[in-house]
Amino acid sequence: MTYGLLTPEVPLGPFEASVIKVWSTPGKTAKLHATEHCSRVRTGRVVPSDLPLPAVMKRMCPQCARYGSWGRPGTGVGLFLGALTGLGLLYELDRYSEADEDYVTDNEVQQAAAVLLQARHEDPEEADEDEEDDWRARHEAQQVRTSLFDQWRSAAGSLHRAHQLLAPFPWLTSWADAGMRRKASHVAGLQRQASRLVTQEALVAAAGVAAMDTPELPGEDPVLALLGDPATAGRRLESLWRRWSERTADSWQHPREHDHLAYDLVQGISSRRKGRQAALERAQELVSAWTAAIPADTAGAQEEQVLLLQLPSPEPGDRYGRDEPFLGGLSEWELGVLVHWATEADWDRLTVTVRVPQPVAARLLSGRGSQLSCSTPGRQGSPGQTTVLQVSGHSAGPGVFDDTPVAERRPVTASDLQTLRILSRDADGLYLVLSLGNGPEVLSLSVLEKRVAAGGRYVFVAAAGDLPDTLIAPRQEELTAADTADAGPVWAPRVHGPSHPDFGRHLGTAEGERLVVRLARGQRDAEAALRCLALARGTADLRNLDDGHDTDGRRDRMPFLVWDGLLAADRLSLRPFRPAGDNPRQEGSGLPLGVLARVQLYTTDGWGRFEGKAHAPGCQHQGRDRALNRYFELLTVEEMLRSHQFIPCSKCGGYATRRLSAAQVAYYRAAHQMHNLAGQVRWALDHPDLEADTASLLTELRQWDCTPPADEWFTEGNEDVEWQRFVARLLRQLETAVAGGRQRT
Ligand SMILES: [Zn+2]
Ligand SMILES: [Zn+2]
Repeated sequence: MTYGLLTPEVPLGPFEASVIKVWSTPGKTAKLHATEHCSRVRTGRVVPSDLPLPAVMKRMCPQCARYGSWGRPGTGVGLFLGALTGLGLLYELDRYSEADEDYVTDNEVQQAAAVLLQARHEDPEEADEDEEDDWRARHEAQQVRTSLFDQWRSAAGSLHRAHQLLAPFPWLTSWADAGMRRKASHVAGLQRQASRLVTQEALVAAAGVAAMDTPELPGEDPVLALLGDPATAGRRLESLWRRWSERTADSWQHPREHDHLAYDLVQGISSRRKGRQAALERAQELVSAWTAAIPADTAGAQEEQVLLLQLPSPEPGDRYGRDEPFLGGLSEWELGVLVHWATEADWDRLTVTVRVPQPVAARLLSGRGSQLSCSTPGRQGSPGQTTVLQVSGHSAGPGVFDDTPVAERRPVTASDLQTLRILSRDADGLYLVLSLGNGPEVLSLSVLEKRVAAGGRYVFVAAAGDLPDTLIAPRQEELTAADTADAGPVWAPRVHGPSHPDFGRHLGTAEGERLVVRLARGQRDAEAALRCLALARGTADLRNLDDGHDTDGRRDRMPFLVWDGLLAADRLSLRPFRPAGDNPRQEGSGLPLGVLARVQLYTTDGWGRFEGKAHAPGCQHQGRDRALNRYFELLTVEEMLRSHQFIPCSKCGGYATRRLSAAQVAYYRAAHQMHNLAGQVRWALDHPDLEADTASLLTELRQWDCTPPADEWFTEGNEDVEWQRFVARLLRQLETAVAGGRQRT
């Protein structure tokens, strides 16, 4: 595999003046390195310097030129260089532009066509030697066909990718023109070859099958009694019909090539069993009858219609087709139609114009179970037509992303975002943006896309990757070191006694960071997640981070770990804050909520309005997507205290808690300690005759009483006074009781 190398002929456009950070040993002619860790750096100390891109191109070390990413990711110049080098445009221009090692000669195509289009497929079970040879030849011809179609799809996919990579950089167009033409003509050549291996007759017949209704199925036929009672036999016949009609309708072979499906009916029945042969013959009769019943429609077949087909576009982030090969979701029939009848193909916008016989047009227009969206030309934009995002005619230069001072940034456009989607390695992260209407905000790419499409004016401040290392690295190192030193369980065991210093720690943000690093697969993952976490922290409503499924069924993949960093799966114990009520066992202490009042809880049903129990995001009981999305409800702790209809699921506790700050954890612990003390005092008052250890209780309460609560526990009203009164009252009650007890003795 050759990776594209950046050569001086490639025009750099507005990036001519871009500055690249490089490392080198001192000296005017020393090779430059994209990273200080390059393996070609052998001796001496390398020092960083910032040099203009053209100068860097001349002196870059070959190793870094080939594999290194020169521009910092997320910057305009980083995206530009990423689009060109590595597996980018230079690489794409090089492949599928001429006959390669997989090339099938016209002669081979002709031979394969002769075999495939000749008389029908013989039954392999009854094949004698000659027929076996026939069968082998057919098999080979089928492989030629599959291989040609695969090559055509890959070549077209590569051409589409090249268009996408080229679109944001119009100054590259004339330089790339010859290469793009070569690619287009290669695709067209493969299409011509592939089209000789499918026939109009077969494709029209398959369209006919798709239009057929379920025929009458003779479940009562005594010949089929060995399948079971008539109802069972009927079901088996129905499944045979379904398989036959689905397979034939989606195939590029003629339906008569699928007779062998008749064997499905007697599958699992021993060939020695009496009656099997008769049942098989009955099945073969049926299948032949279905084939014969395919509407001939010869008149309709001569009438033709021109249609515009919109092909499914590959997932933008899926640069190398890892998820699915290009057009991999189309059936053989659809691929056959495209190849056989295309009159014009636009691999940039993924539209193909076809002139097809009437039955084929009818099937395409029905849109049933097809990934091709179809319209008649001139009626574009009709319902069902996916809108094609126009990316041509815009230019992605410096000044939008993180390569100019914020003060000089231009507002981001829909095409900038599209560029980011196509080119960035980690597009599915979070972005800190600025707008006049909303101020600074952290958004996922899909949310930002929607806002910008709706006319929003936003300026990019930073992506998660732009956050300075000095912010992330020390914490990551600290956590990694702690993790290596103590390989305890991932999920720290719960601490139940509130006097223990770790009580409530599992709810805190620090614990979230620890989990993110602990659960990450490797350092890179951990770093990416910590960066996202740092951005997401300030988000007012976490539901806005995840937009759920967007219209293409694609979703942003914010590193999943980030959710563990943001949300604690555990419920809070709110007993200390509940009113001192009538139920002595459930009794609360009525303590003020303080900094805990606004803590966010995310649940499916906070007020008990829907049937069933409330769940937290990620509850397995719910069978939903694991992430938090906009279908969840957000309640504060204050609201949860007032919600009497909340019925939590026993598995997940009903809600997830937004992680607590250090001050919130501290107050949570203090409130539980105080609640605990109140319980002990109550018990001592209720049992004056028993020898309770009132001395230590008194000491503890006196200590609380003379320590004012921490400033950050209470931010509102006179909650601090309430707290102090509560402590003082408790102390007075105990002192009185102790004094009374002494008098009695
Ligand atoms: Zn190097
Ligand atoms: Zn649940």
